[in-house]
Amino acid sequence: MKNVKTIAEMQAVAESLRWEGKTIGLVPTMGFLHEGHLSLMRTAREGNDAVIASIFVNPTQFGPKEDLARYPRDEDGDRQKCESAGVDYLFMPPVAEMYPEKPSVFVDLEGIACMLEGSIRPGHFRGVATVVAKLFNIVKPHRAYFGQKDYQQCAVIKRMVRGLNLDVEVIVLPTVREADGLAMSSRNSYLDAKQRGKAIVLFHALKAGEELIRAGVHEPEKVRQKMRDVLLTVE
Ligand code: AMP
Repeated sequence: MKNVKTIAEMQAVAESLRWEGKTIGLVPTMGFLHEGHLSLMRTAREGNDAVIASIFVNPTQFGPKEDLARYPRDEDGDRQKCESAGVDYLFMPPVAEMYPEKPSVFVDLEGIACMLEGSIRPGHFRGVATVVAKLFNIVKPHRAYFGQKDYQQCAVIKRMVRGLNLDVEVIVLPTVREADGLAMSSRNSYLDAKQRGKAIVLFHALKAGEELIRAGVHEPEKVRQKMRDVLLTVE
């Protein structure tokens, strides 16, 4: 696996891969990798001639009071995991490489980026869409892989690709979970044992909603109420 730090080198590698007629699969991440990330990389490995993973903790998608400074990092461990998942190139640019000046160009989506998570994290999906667009221009992938865990993010990226006619196939893969059902996430490392115990209620609420729908209940409010009841069982 080759480590790439600069945009110029990454673009040159991508250009020559394309020149050789090779397909490129991209897996964008923020690092502190777990099985969820690795499942994307392994799938990219199966479907492409070359696999490029990126690790970049993107400042423009963090709000001023969010966890940018303390976001977990493990460069050496991540490098090993990428290598074992079959990644060919690991693109890990410094912040000054991606944003040499105060960012002034953004990809902004109306509607979809402002609801749900977007409504409580203003600017978050603008940062995500902007950095993913930049990565697409740097890595020139044929296919890019994202996790269904971040469902709204997938919808935003698909909408961006459609709206800007980007020539990339967006592939969304299922959520990888811990043995008890909690979705794997780099941020789970913030949880102490007590919080970790409580977090599983999210999965239980989702399952309860799913069961109701499978049993034929189609009124959103009934499903919502059931899920709320499950969530409220946690003190
Ligand atoms: P992140 O490093 O959190 O920005 O995630 C990078 C990519 O991995 C995103 O497309 C996520 O949706 C995906 N991802 C994160 N956690 C999981 C998981 N548990 N299962 C599947 N994909 C995931």
